[in-house]
Amino acid sequence: MVRKISFRSWFYYRIVIIRTIVLILIKKVYIYLGSLPPAPRLNGHLKSFTMAEVYHLNCVRIVTPFRENVSGHCLLIREDKQMALIDTGIGLLDTRYPEERIGRELVNMVGYRFDEKTTAIEQIKALGLDPEDVRDCIISHLDNDHIGGLADFPQATVHVGTEEYANFRSGNPRYLTTPLQHNPPVRTYASSADRWFGLEARKVHTALDTEILLIPLFGHTHGHCGVAVKLDDRWMLYVADAYYLRDELYDPGHPVHQLAEARADDNVMRIATVERIRELIASQPQISVFGYHDIDEFAGYAATD
Ligand SMILES: [Zn+2]
Repeated sequence: MVRKISFRSWFYYRIVIIRTIVLILIKKVYIYLGSLPPAPRLNGHLKSFTMAEVYHLNCVRIVTPFRENVSGHCLLIREDKQMALIDTGIGLLDTRYPEERIGRELVNMVGYRFDEKTTAIEQIKALGLDPEDVRDCIISHLDNDHIGGLADFPQATVHVGTEEYANFRSGNPRYLTTPLQHNPPVRTYASSADRWFGLEARKVHTALDTEILLIPLFGHTHGHCGVAVKLDDRWMLYVADAYYLRDELYDPGHPVHQLAEARADDNVMRIATVERIRELIASQPQISVFGYHDIDEFAGYAATD
């Protein structure tokens, strides 16, 4: 009996020792090759293309009755030292002075949760990049949850549709004035005869070589635009708040429609925009289409990118 236990113990320990040696060797090989799998992280999902790198950043946290977590799906596009942000999410000043910048009523109504680590500037620093290299911010529309972070990049030019900027300056009460209080350089883009897969397209002039287009998707606001980005030979279309949740495209009974309708400057245009997006997805399935607030959609990009 004693001999049998000893043999089994010896056999067991031998397996454990061999396994440990193999694991150490695998780790050493990974380190040698410089390809140790990265630790999982919440944000900053990277995809490399020939000309540019694209990071998907979640720069907002909102808790609503529809979703435990609602995202703010921003894009950071990088070519060597130059960077551009597509929408900025909530900024550092918002997290430090929410009452002054946003107001208690709106903070409670929307369901904001603030954390400096969520801001684009902190995420850019965490990636080891220099926020000063963000030269351009391409903005879908001027609701505060999309532009609160502009003040963190005062050197960057703000690119926005002409109608959206006019809507903001018209005193429409939906907008807060605080996000543009620092008077950044603004470049506006008026209507164009150019077309992109049948939709109007306005070429955005940034410091990057990457092709970037503003695509009017009016309704949520009078000048709300999506942003199309060409990466290698593929396009992605960021539709911002043309829908809050992807389910809006396919579930006419979803309760989020009521919120989308209530928040729309022009609900008839919003519905027409949703229809156009649905048609585009059906006819051009190769285009990656995603919005700002659907955290499941964001998680999907995290999984594949
Ligand atoms: Zn929004």
